[in-house]
Amino acid sequence: AKAWVLASRPNGMPTAENFRLEELPNRELADGEVRVTNRWLSVDPYMRGRMNDVKSYAPPFQLDQPMQGGAVGEVVESRSDQFKPGDMVQHMEGWRDEAVMKAEAVRPLPQLDVPPQAFLGQLGMPGMTAYVGLTRIAEVKEGDTVFVSAAAGAVGSTVVQIAKAMGCHVIGSAGGPDKCAWVQSLGADAVIDYKGDVPVVKALGEVARNGIDVYFDNVGGEHLDAALAHCRQGARFAICGMIDVYNTAEPTKLRYLPRIIATRARIQGFLVSDHVDCAAEFYRDMGGWLSDGKLKAQETVVDGLGRMPEAFLGLFQGGNTGKMLVRV
Ligand code: NDP
Repeated sequence: AKAWVLASRPNGMPTAENFRLEELPNRELADGEVRVTNRWLSVDPYMRGRMNDVKSYAPPFQLDQPMQGGAVGEVVESRSDQFKPGDMVQHMEGWRDEAVMKAEAVRPLPQLDVPPQAFLGQLGMPGMTAYVGLTRIAEVKEGDTVFVSAAAGAVGSTVVQIAKAMGCHVIGSAGGPDKCAWVQSLGADAVIDYKGDVPVVKALGEVARNGIDVYFDNVGGEHLDAALAHCRQGARFAICGMIDVYNTAEPTKLRYLPRIIATRARIQGFLVSDHVDCAAEFYRDMGGWLSDGKLKAQETVVDGLGRMPEAFLGLFQGGNTGKMLVRV
């Protein structure tokens, strides 16, 4: 078995040199453990934060130690009465082709008629992030105008579709004409190409003449400032991520921040991990929208454990449409 270890900590944008593929020692299972052959591995933007040696909500990856992340795989050996060979499961021992773990660290896949890797995307952590951010943080309601950045990504594309299913007017932003066309095909009423010539603040003003009620932020920076410039009375901001600043030490300039006073806007950050209690509600609603044909999932698949750093780095260069996945 092999695993990616953190070879060095990045300064700014990570590179391939920050990762090293190593042979894992083979070991027998202890009582209560299972061996899982990983089929699908997740790469996610939050992993960038774990490459830094700073205290945060997730502990830093340790130098020269295997990295962690979401994974879906098949139990191939079990010394636990909770799992048997052939069971498909999910767990957090990703970045490797095989994982040996205590059965308590492993969860069976929910009973929904979707391919197993969907539980790393729309029906997994990114999908739940979209759901929680919209319903609990932004408290979205029918008729709201919702703006979402990184709208062609895993979280953003799900935000677009849930917001449409809930009767909202949806504006997305994404990089490049192909991604924008795809976001439109998901039902977005307008899409901004933030890599185009028009600054986001101007482009948003053109498509949101009456302003926005909700901003679902995946990007931060210029996008957040544009949302502040165009927010309406009582707007709600669900601050999910700020990928624009993960690789830079430059401070964010928010020229329009004072608008939150007159508009009484509410800006709230959140972590999906604080909302595990909404899992039943999430699977119920997502299951319903799936069977009504209201959810489309798209994946960008990179083949082979050996290409995992490439897949990860691709997140910061717009290399994915929908969920970025590694097929082992
Ligand atoms: P995505 O699938 O959206 O992948 C990242 C995308 O971000 C890229 O495809 C790229 O799309 C876009 N991007 C990259 N750099 C920039 C930039 N400088 N400016 C604008 N867009 C950029 O990732 P996820 O859906 O997994 O995550 C989306 C966001 O949600 C991230 O910020 C992540 O950290 C956050 N998150 C937060 C969670 C929470 O609990 N708070 C949980 C999960 C995710 P493009 O080609 O359009 O530029």
